[in-house]
Parts: sequence; structure tokens; C-alpha cells
Amino acid sequence: MVYSIAMSKELPRYQSSPQAKQTPSLSPLDQNLARIKHVVAVSSGKGGVGKSTVSTQLSVALAKKGYKVGLLDADVYGPSIPKMLAGFSQPEQKDGKILPIHRHGVSFMSMGLLTDDQTPVIWRGPMATKLIQQFLANVEWGELDYLLIDLPPGTGDVQLTLTQLASLRGAVVVTSPQQVAVGITMRGIRMFDEVRVPILGLIENMSGFVCPHCDQESHPFSKDGGKAHAQQYGIPYLGGIPIDAKLAQAGDEGNPFLLGEDRPAAKAISNIVDQLEKTLKEIEDKTLENTMSPKEISSDDDHVILTWPDDHVSKINSRELRYQCPCAQCVSEDTGQRIIRKEDISEHIKPVGFRPVGRYGLQISWSDHHSTGIYTFNQLAKM
Ligand code: ADP
Repeated sequence: MVYSIAMSKELPRYQSSPQAKQTPSLSPLDQNLARIKHVVAVSSGKGGVGKSTVSTQLSVALAKKGYKVGLLDADVYGPSIPKMLAGFSQPEQKDGKILPIHRHGVSFMSMGLLTDDQTPVIWRGPMATKLIQQFLANVEWGELDYLLIDLPPGTGDVQLTLTQLASLRGAVVVTSPQQVAVGITMRGIRMFDEVRVPILGLIENMSGFVCPHCDQESHPFSKDGGKAHAQQYGIPYLGGIPIDAKLAQAGDEGNPFLLGEDRPAAKAISNIVDQLEKTLKEIEDKTLENTMSPKEISSDDDHVILTWPDDHVSKINSRELRYQCPCAQCVSEDTGQRIIRKEDISEHIKPVGFRPVGRYGLQISWSDHHSTGIYTFNQLAKM
């Protein structure tokens, strides 16, 4: 049995096989993430630098450009997005999924809708990871171009787990002139480095000051300090946003448009969005180029045989591959432990059908009538 997989950037054609009737099973988290083009974290070393303000303004600016945008407020210590978008309604449920709240063109979900100021932080912390996991998996985000995640400040366990959970395309680091100076930002950058999440850039918030009387911008702190530090860290500099009373008022009143388009802060945000778009497009193009998909898949008595674009041929033992099935019936979603036992798999197990899934994976139907697993090409390449 031999199948050829289209090597263009078009989706490979569906190739049905009589055995491949069972619905493929991606976990709810993967199903949601598969419909989101770019998941981007917005982070900061400490609270109060304007991370939530920046997340809100970037989301609204992207939505204004016509993108479908989601904003997940994961800031356990100060969930302020409901206030900044003036959306306080309790999220509704439909078909077992939580529906996000829609405000100013952005779909958002927040810890703040489920907890209140009285909820002790000590309780909110451990609960955060679980809740965020649920927000990522069980909120009906739909098709999105961007999902921005407003991370809690700092570089602790919560941030690390969230970062790994959400398959981030990249992270934006927000800092203030004071924080740049004391190197707190560096810790955040190191955290993303550790988990191999690309830093899309540094934003220096409160980098200057816009006079409320004459609207002129001045620079009480050293000008271009953020830029210099970004260079020093070897990461892109996305821009500086000045202190502007209108920006604070926009946040307080839950109307991000209060800022207006002509103010220096608005122009800075608009430039940052343009740069972000460009950087993400470059990363996306690179990822597409780097996605290793086999050009031919076949099988013999004991193996699945994959021919890669460079004509390298991988032969994977069929029984081992069946054992490595990633679906929820074979691997516990809670513990990650394998449920399937090798001794329960016949020595004569064979693939009876292959079906490419998107640009990233392969659904295999097996002679034991199991066909719910989707193996990513990366997983197959590693095997
Ligand atoms: P964080 O999310 O980092 O804790 P916030 O976004 O909640 O910070 O901002 C803290 C406060 O500073 C808010 O009152 C917000 O309106 C204000 N703020 C943030 N950035 C600016 C800015 N560039 N100009 C004026 N006020 C700002």
C-alpha cells in the first residue's frame, strides 16, 4: 500500500480508506489550538508595568485591522481585562463549552469573571494552571488569527506551565524604564529561552510622557533605553509607549478607543502591531518551510515506511507505532500515562489505511479497527 502526499503548501488531499471511519481524536486542547493561527503570550517581570493595558490595546488594534482576535486574561494576581474591556457578564455555556465574552471586536475570557477581589491570591495561584488549561481547552474560541494571553507577572511555575501548555508562537515582553534598569526583564527572557519560545520583542511601556495640556511627548527617563537593552539581550525592540493620561482613562472606563488615533501612544501601539504582524508572518513562513512531511507512505508486513523530502526512508515497526498511538483511548489525558499495553497488541498488527491530517499529521487505521490516533509528522520523524 503506497500513498503520495502532496508537497505543496496546499492541504494534502483526503485519501479515504474503508477502515478509516472512526472520527479522529485530538484532545479538546489540541482541537482548539488547531483553529488558532498565532498564540502569543504577553509577559512582564513585575506587576504594574502596563502588561494588561498593552494586551488590551494590542488586541483591539489587531481586531480593528480585521483579524479575529481572542484575549485570555491569565493574570491571576490582578485580572484586569474585564474592567479594561468593560465586560463583566458571566460566561455562558453551550454544548459543554464556555462561550467567550465579546467586547470591542475581541473575544475574551478572564479569571476575573470567575474569581473576585476577595479571593485570596494564595488560592488563585495553584488554581491558575488548572483554570487556564480549561480556558484553553474548553472555551469556544472558534477560528482565531490571534490569541493573546495576558500572563501573570513574573517567572514562576504558573508562567512556565502556561507557556508550555499553550503551544506559543512567541512571547512579547513588556517592561518599564525602571525594570529595564534592574534586569528583571532578563529573567523573563531567560524563562522563554529555556522553554524555547521565541521572544517576538520587547515593549518599553511608560517610556516617555505626554503632557495632558499640550499633548507634547517628553522623555524624563533616558530615551531609547528600551531599544538599547533589547539590543543587549539580542531580541527585537517593538517600540516604546509613552505615559498618557488618556490611556489610563481608557483602561479605567473600559473603552480602549478613548485613546484616539492621533496621540503618540496610539501611534506607538499601531507601529508595534505592524511589527508584530511582520515578525509572526516570518515565523509562520519559516514553520511552513520547516514542517517535515513525508512525500510517500507505505507499509510492508512489519513496518510503516515513510519517505521524506530528502529521500531519506524511515521504517517504523508497526507494533511499536500502534503502541505509540497518541489518542485519548491509548494515553491518559490527565496523567500522560499510556493506557494501552504492548502485550495486548497483536504481533501481526498492520496499518490498513493512512489519511493525512492538515499539514502536520497522519491518521492511521489499524487492523485491530483502531483509527482514532493522529501522529504528527514531527513525532514520526523522531521515531
Ligand atoms: P499590569 O498589567 O502590568 O499590572 P496595568 O496594565 O494594569 O499593569 O497598568 C497599571 C496601571 O497603569 C493602570 O492604571 C493603567 O491604566 C496604567 N498605565 C499603563 N500603561 C500606561 C501608559 N502608557 N500611560 C498611562 N497609564 C498607563
